[in-house]
Amino acid sequence: MRKICLLGSTGSVGFQTIEVISQNPDLLKLHSIATYGRNPNTIINQVNKYNPKYVAVYDEQTAKKIAESVKAKVLVGIEGIMQIVEDDEVDLVVSAIVGFIGLKPTLRALEKGKQVALANKESIVVGGKLIQRYIDKIIPVDSEHSAIFQLIQNRNIQDIKEIILTASGGPFWRKKQSQLRNVKIEDALKHPVWKMGHKITIDSATLMNKALEIIEAHFLFSVPPEKIKAIIHPQSYVHSLVVLKDNNVLAHIAKPDMRIPISYALFYPERQENNFSPFSFTDLYNKKLEFYEIPKHFRSIKFAYSVLSLGGVFPTILNAANEVAVDLFIQGKIGFLNIFDIVEDTLSCYGGNNYKDLTVEILEEVNDWARKTAIDLAKKSKIYIN
Ligand code: MG
Repeated sequence: MRKICLLGSTGSVGFQTIEVISQNPDLLKLHSIATYGRNPNTIINQVNKYNPKYVAVYDEQTAKKIAESVKAKVLVGIEGIMQIVEDDEVDLVVSAIVGFIGLKPTLRALEKGKQVALANKESIVVGGKLIQRYIDKIIPVDSEHSAIFQLIQNRNIQDIKEIILTASGGPFWRKKQSQLRNVKIEDALKHPVWKMGHKITIDSATLMNKALEIIEAHFLFSVPPEKIKAIIHPQSYVHSLVVLKDNNVLAHIAKPDMRIPISYALFYPERQENNFSPFSFTDLYNKKLEFYEIPKHFRSIKFAYSVLSLGGVFPTILNAANEVAVDLFIQGKIGFLNIFDIVEDTLSCYGGNNYKDLTVEILEEVNDWARKTAIDLAKKSKIYIN
């Protein structure tokens, strides 16, 4: 029986992780869950239905409310979350909390020797250097990285000529720059293939999600940035490709269903049968599999290579400015293209030390600086709508 601690139980990956666990009651057990606390009723329902031993809630008020309605032990704040990941009984931590906040508990789990199924890409984007020390303990959940992980198992890293990440392209990739100026929040939230949370859906529309995934791939697989490429593949059937130095090309194909990479991560190194979107070769009949270059006006991709070459704290600044910009866009404070402006301006504003030896404290400090700077820049500029 593998005991699982799930960080981010009320998000899209959280829900699907619980589904995989509940379909395998003899093999997997939901030991504990952690959430930010935006959906107290969902948390209460999950606790009552799946009976985890502990629930950790970041927000104090929500934690109090939940404690009144459940039998499980309720822990509070980031300390509460840290406590459940390091619990002796936990075998595997699924890190699926969205954003920078996922970094600390992910690192703590790794330091305690836990296996980590990593869905929180922000934590490896910002803390890549810190997390790389424990790379053997990480199984990626992000569909593209799960694909690459499977394709390069037992392969010599020197044999890899290129890693090609596929992107669905989100709802807007066919639009010209001028057409992007006035796109609405509702339209940005309509993803053509995947149903996911708001943050990642907007990141897909700006292709910032792919930018973060380029950085993620660099740290996960120790492949230099110039060997990582991203292309658009609207059908999301091919989840990634690996080109080897002798020009053999490996592709990973599966239907777009996150339960497939989640199940792989939960059972790794074994595999378990499931009924999630079974594949038949007839699925490929009349199915056009298309591939396109990412249009240059999606500046996010350029940012990824730029912060990787600058290294140090720059991926953290990119991530923080993007988190703020996405929030402001969802609140209707800035336009779609302004997300790129805010990220670019925040990156060029940084005049501080680009530390060689990173620590969580340095990353937190820079993250706070970048968030504050991004908000100030937005408020001072003409783009801000009051
Ligand atoms: Mg992905």
